[in-house]
Amino acid sequence: TIGMLAIDKNGDISGACTTSGLAYKMHGRVGDSPIIGSGLFVDNEIGACVATGLGEEVVKTVGSFLVVELMRQGKTPQEACEEAISRIVNKPNSNYKDFQVGYIAVNKQGETGSYSIHQWFSMTKYQDGVNEQIQSDFFNK
Ligand code: ASP
Repeated sequence: TIGMLAIDKNGDISGACTTSGLAYKMHGRVGDSPIIGSGLFVDNEIGACVATGLGEEVVKTVGSFLVVELMRQGKTPQEACEEAISRIVNKPNSNYKDFQVGYIAVNKQGETGSYSIHQWFSMTKYQDGVNEQIQSDFFNK
C-alpha cells in the first residue's frame, strides 16, 4: 500500500491510499485500503491516518479510525499510532511476528507520527521544501 496524507496552509487535511492487496489473495478478497476507517480515515477537525500491511488485522481493529479517535482524545499522532499497533500486538495469541502493519498519521496542528510492527518501515515527510525519512517501529523501540 502507498498511503499519503497532506495538510495545506489553511490546515485542511486530505488523504489517499492505493494498493495491490495481498499476494496470492483469495478471489474476491477486499483488503483494508478501500474500507474507510480501516485503511484510511480523514477527519478535517482532528487529523488523518493511513495504514499498510496485513489488511485483515487493520480491519479487525478499524485501525485508521482508531488512530484518529485517539488523537481526538488528546494523543499525539505518534502516541496514537503506537497505541493502534499495540492493540494488534497485544491481542491474545497474536502472531504479530508473522505479519506487518504500519500506520502514519497527521493532526490538525500538522504534527506527524508513524509506527509499525516490523523494522524498515519508513515514512517520508515533506515540509517547507525538505524531505525527511522517519523510521519508527516496535522492534527498534
Ligand atoms: N493493506 C493491503 C491489504 O491488505 C496490503 C498492503 O499494504 O500492501 O490489502
